[in-house]
Amino acid sequence: MKSQTRVVVIGGGIAGCSTLYHLTQEGWSDVVLVERGELTSGTTWHSAAQVTNFGMNQTMVGLKTHSINLYKELRDDPEYPVGYNHGDGGIRLANTEAQMDGYRHFTSMARGMGVEYEVLDAAECARRHPLISTDNLLGGLWDAEDGHIDPAQLCGALSYRARKAGAEVYRNTAVTSLTQHKDDSWTVHTDKGDIACDIVVNAGGYRVNEVGAMMGVHHPVMSMEHQYFITEDIPAIAEAGHRIPLLRCPISDYYSRQEKGGLLVGFYEQDCKTWGMDGVDPNFVNALCPDDLDRVMDVLEGAFARMPALTEVGIKTIVNGPITYTIDGAPLVGPIPNKRNAFCIIGLRAGLGEGGGHGWLLAQQIVHGEACYDTWCIDPRRFAGHTNVELTALKAIEDYQNEFRFHFPNEHRPAGRMAKTTPLTPVLAAENAEFTVVNGWERAEFFKPNADFHVTHGFGFDESFDIVGAEVAAVQNAVGLTEVNGFNRFEITGSDAQDFLDRMICGRVPRKDGRVGLAYLLNEHGMLKSEATIAIIPASDRGPARIWYGSAAASELHDMDWLQAHLRSDENVHVRSLTNDQTILVIAGPKAREVLQAVSRADWSKAAFPWLSVRECFIGIAPATVMAVSFSGELAYEIHVPNASLYSAYLSLREAGGVHGMKLFGALAVESMRLEKGYLHWKADILTEFDPFETGLDRFVNLDKPDFIGKAALEKRRAAGLQKRLVTLSVDSTSAPTYGGASLMDGERVVGTVCSGGWGYRTGLNLAYAFVDPAYAPIGTRVLIDALGLMVHAEVIDANLYDPQYRRVKG
Ligand SMILES: Cc1cc2nc3c(=O)[nH]c(=O)nc-3n(C[C@H](O)[C@H](O)[C@H](O)COP(=O)(O)OP(=O)(O)OC[C@H]3O[C@@H](n4cnc5c(N)ncnc54)[C@H](O)[C@@H]3O)c2cc1C
Repeated sequence: MKSQTRVVVIGGGIAGCSTLYHLTQEGWSDVVLVERGELTSGTTWHSAAQVTNFGMNQTMVGLKTHSINLYKELRDDPEYPVGYNHGDGGIRLANTEAQMDGYRHFTSMARGMGVEYEVLDAAECARRHPLISTDNLLGGLWDAEDGHIDPAQLCGALSYRARKAGAEVYRNTAVTSLTQHKDDSWTVHTDKGDIACDIVVNAGGYRVNEVGAMMGVHHPVMSMEHQYFITEDIPAIAEAGHRIPLLRCPISDYYSRQEKGGLLVGFYEQDCKTWGMDGVDPNFVNALCPDDLDRVMDVLEGAFARMPALTEVGIKTIVNGPITYTIDGAPLVGPIPNKRNAFCIIGLRAGLGEGGGHGWLLAQQIVHGEACYDTWCIDPRRFAGHTNVELTALKAIEDYQNEFRFHFPNEHRPAGRMAKTTPLTPVLAAENAEFTVVNGWERAEFFKPNADFHVTHGFGFDESFDIVGAEVAAVQNAVGLTEVNGFNRFEITGSDAQDFLDRMICGRVPRKDGRVGLAYLLNEHGMLKSEATIAIIPASDRGPARIWYGSAAASELHDMDWLQAHLRSDENVHVRSLTNDQTILVIAGPKAREVLQAVSRADWSKAAFPWLSVRECFIGIAPATVMAVSFSGELAYEIHVPNASLYSAYLSLREAGGVHGMKLFGALAVESMRLEKGYLHWKADILTEFDPFETGLDRFVNLDKPDFIGKAALEKRRAAGLQKRLVTLSVDSTSAPTYGGASLMDGERVVGTVCSGGWGYRTGLNLAYAFVDPAYAPIGTRVLIDALGLMVHAEVIDANLYDPQYRRVKG
């Protein structure tokens, strides 16, 4: 066994084997995998091992396509061939129009990744899958690439190839503890000796939290018991004369695929069970949980009704094993929060289908710092502060129960709600707030006319349309108030703070006391990493001179990681998070200044406190930090208040706002208004796949600065010419917004992808942002959007079409 290596991957299931193989493909051969049993002795050996190409965003589709291409290559490799049944095809069923709309949207989205799904009616589903009835069926989504693979052969082939490239695999070697050293390197202690390394990767499957505990981390991953059975041969399969496609059923929560002459059928029962919540038996190796078919009777009946042939054959085998779920259903693949040189590839609930792609994206992150796709949807740092074991269990159960029922736009499910609240949450609830969830925070989405009001979730404009319109009108015509909780806020102090930020930010950094500026951070490849509001706050009785760095609500761990990683040991800079201590109240609208003047003794005139100013003050008796910034395009103030004083500040503002007809508004109104101003959302429109010029942020880049992170790469990119352009579109539809991922078409060719969309109430336009090929970027260009299965006309228009001179913002 080596005593020194570059990377130690812990775990020899599909996650670990794929990571090891892809590290060698990215050029790192001095890498090691350590497995406590035999390869695949965790969950991987007993997997149903279906491989599908379905994903709900482009990153997931792209990584699954990588799996499929890799598995085909492995299947065809005579040196170590892998059993892979590729191309049986698969159907996801639907019995509501809303589900069908979802499939239409996913079809449009996948087209941008070169993947063609098909939306089928019920008769065509039955024609392709001769065992199903069309009762209570509207149709389905066809994925031609679906199939299944031999898990042991797959992992064997990946480790064989990795070893051939120089990697080493140590089986029957358990990692017993981990020690991190001052220089961030590690010693991996095993029962066979120690291995010193630069980087560790947790690929521990259902033992994820045993490995996590070795580095003082709890991962929001929970195992659930999951069962499938395999039937005796079914005559109708032989009679069909072709292989039977895979089936996924969101109506009755089961899946199936062909297994020899019978079917393999797996279940997601409502009466489901977590597994190993308080620890896993050390001897649970190559093992299964006891069969318990009684538990799945509810969903079994649905499967019988859809495939009556199942009732006529016996069951040959039952498999019940642990499967991991995360707090939001998507895996955790990337850097481990608050750790250096530590990565994970965990919480895989479809690890055979996705594992090839996850290992690929992880290896790219480890070797190059970033992957070819934006990986935020699988980034382990996407939750901050609320990911405890109890909440994870509740969300895992809910997700398991809804395995094939995708979330509709603006749908937030009930389990584990109220995880993060402020003193205002009950107050806003009493005002009939409908809440959305942002990184665990309960944030008002809109205010219902009464407590019993509900929207019907789907893809069209819904019953909240006019309500949100009225909230926007109140902001436009008078004044509105909204709470923005969970907004990320770092306090940066020290004599080198401004120089440090100057290096991190690609544009001008405000240096004058009392000023605020918007700034962008790039990665080493010149691509967009983060967006931050930088406020320079002079020394006062509340603290020394300091900089506030504000960024998106879910970005806390991501941005902290990025800043800390670039701090030099000789720099006098301290970064601390105030995210959980303060909340923002936004007042916006032409009367906002009068409201502020009524509650605070300072001079709030335009001359004394112009746009992009920051100042400390009191709102009534509540200490506050006020910034003159606007995300709505109206005169607006962000009022940052310590949570202990939040209710007091709220009462003062409500009282002062009363005479101006102040109305509460929510996140949907904010979303609508920012689209009319050309403002961007981090991780919707600001992605690591695009640079600031492609994203239209030229005015925030200063290439005359001596240096900043990503400058050299950005200069090269600029010289090579733009690959894409972000444009604003006016969409010819009044029935539905366009959703992120929808494809822009020129004939059969995809020429762009929507990243944001929504109705602009002040402009009366259905708006979308999209990244397009530069030839389609000029104002006035007409394109077609594949929107929910219809080809809808759209035209490129000016961004910032509402008050382009910023007269309203400046008041
Ligand atoms: C019944 C069932 C059906 C499924 N069907 C499908 C399907 O059809 N398609 C699909 O894509 N997915 C399916 N899955 C899910 C899929 O099997 C898993 O996502 C995948 O196998 C997880 O792989 P992994 O490498 O993350 O974990 P594992 O396979 O559990 O591997 C983790 C490894 O880490 C090792 N390890 C842990 N701790 C240590 C330590 N301290 N030292 C050294 N080694 C350690 C373990 O021994 C283990 O071998 C199914 C799962 C179940 C239970």
